[in-house]
Amino acid sequence: MKCSICGKRLLVGINSITTLKDGVICNNCATEVGLSTKSLFHSMAEVKSSGTVTVAEATDYFNNHKTFTFEQERAQKKLEKKQAQKEEEQQRAEDADKYDQLLSEFKEDKAWHVGKVYFDDKKQQVLVKKSTAEHIFNERTLNFPYSDLESYDVIEDPTTIEKKHGVGRSIVGGLVAGPTGAVLGAFSGGKSYSAVSKVAMILYFKENYHIEATFLSTDTSTSSSTYAAVQRSIMQVGHDLDKIIADNNAGTTTQATTPSDTSNSTADDLRELKQLLDDGIITQDDFDTKKKQILGI
Ligand SMILES: [Zn+2]
Repeated sequence: MKCSICGKRLLVGINSITTLKDGVICNNCATEVGLSTKSLFHSMAEVKSSGTVTVAEATDYFNNHKTFTFEQERAQKKLEKKQAQKEEEQQRAEDADKYDQLLSEFKEDKAWHVGKVYFDDKKQQVLVKKSTAEHIFNERTLNFPYSDLESYDVIEDPTTIEKKHGVGRSIVGGLVAGPTGAVLGAFSGGKSYSAVSKVAMILYFKENYHIEATFLSTDTSTSSSTYAAVQRSIMQVGHDLDKIIADNNAGTTTQATTPSDTSNSTADDLRELKQLLDDGIITQDDFDTKKKQILGI
């Protein structure tokens, strides 16, 4: 390899080499024309631009004792960035307007919601508010059909609640469901931990799109009324979601017995069982025993 300006032999790993658009030059020549990292008067940003310079241009600069400044290029980049920001803002504003419009339509239809995800039984559509990042990266429309809903999960993160006085921690629930402590599957009750830091529902839609709706995000005792209320609303919502999913499944190919069918009925059984517990028809012990049977553990 030779320097395209002075012709000096260059050894990879020994000589500093600056790569131009169509050739390489030695570090001395690069410094002369302001393309080297060793050039005192030029920033790294400009050095990175050396790849846009041709050997002919660099040679011309070298012969005329000139150095590259890249001012034009920098100005152009700044302009492009500004333009992109403007488009992004415009898109966000359009989405926000459209969302407001759709939300009022949904509310008129008495839509119900899971967190910020609205379900309109009349339109048979779901409405989702996009996050800031999604305005740029996610091309999904704000509203889409019920048939896009595939499944959902309830997640609970067990936690410990520090007592206000003394050193005790009330309970450690980390062993419940693996290292993350998240309980996946239907909301089934019968807690073996006394507090949660989070209760959320994840809705899974087609094309690997999912949304997390948080119901609880502060440390809460599982015997509190707050927790009971969250439990109730999740079960209500789960019931409504089950109906949609069942309709979706009925509408598509009728598969006799798939693993997901089995897990759905397991979830239903557990839900029914939990209802019996809540209604005081069965005891906690009855519930625990029966739950183990259903889950096969
Ligand atoms: Zn050279």
